[in-house]
Amino acid sequence: MIHTFAGNTLDRADSLRRDEDQIRHAEDQQSSRYLAFSNLNVLVNNTDEGLQLGWISQSDVAQLNISVPPVLLGLEGDIAHFAIDLSELAEAEKALGLQGQWSFMDCRLAAMDLPDNKTGVLSQSRAQLDWHARHQYCSQCGTQTQQQKGGHTRHCASCKADHFPRTDPVVIMLITDGERCLLGQSVGRLANSGIYSTLAGFIDQGESIEEAVQREIKEESGIIVDTVSYHSSQPWPFPSSLMIGCIGHAISTDIVIDTVEMADVRWFSRSDVALALEKQNDHLRLPGPFAIAHHLIKSWIDDDKY
Ligand SMILES: [Zn+2]
Repeated sequence: MIHTFAGNTLDRADSLRRDEDQIRHAEDQQSSRYLAFSNLNVLVNNTDEGLQLGWISQSDVAQLNISVPPVLLGLEGDIAHFAIDLSELAEAEKALGLQGQWSFMDCRLAAMDLPDNKTGVLSQSRAQLDWHARHQYCSQCGTQTQQQKGGHTRHCASCKADHFPRTDPVVIMLITDGERCLLGQSVGRLANSGIYSTLAGFIDQGESIEEAVQREIKEESGIIVDTVSYHSSQPWPFPSSLMIGCIGHAISTDIVIDTVEMADVRWFSRSDVALALEKQNDHLRLPGPFAIAHHLIKSWIDDDKY
């Protein structure tokens, strides 16, 4: 199953990344394409055929004299694709001479309207540009670091450390006791929204995926989970998580809510959830297909093995 923010078709071009001269050469090719961002909003073009990523040309980028190096995303055939951060420009739209239907757009909103196979490169770009913007200095010695390998590392010339863009693993899990599933509202955005979703949490250090599922569910709901099975995963570039979707089996039923993190946690019956998936339930709304939570819930309804 390929979720939104996955399915990137670019060849990430590891061999090209090993040669800094080749990367500079690729940056200067007229055929190279650049995906522009400003303050982590992506350039898009709202065409008659729908929303498209707003790739710009090498000559567009050259005339801007941006101080931040572009990040090499990869190759499509011989064509190098980069992401470029234009945040240092006060008015990036004006500097690019953008007209008509071109604009910078929030990446979540853009991903909802882009073709499915274009959201993978969007997540790669956003996560990498954000990491570079926030890791300009060495965490060992404080010296300013330099981007290398087209963005796959930042090198410290002082203490020789290499720093790598990180991805933070998060477990997100549909917990079932057979006939019911456990859904909740976290404190904040979803509280009192009518939307209930699967519970989720960051994997701790020294912890397996299964242990993280069991711990997070016990902490947030008091429910004890025994078996955990893997379902699918979704990159989530806000800022750089990987959502690891699991199905877990509950062996207790009494909910004790962690009120610091959760506004509500409840058991919902199959019939309630099935109606909500069809948007026919006035008392329960579920996340849309944009989010892996929707697919975990749908699998529980559709697939006999759960
Ligand atoms: Zn250092």
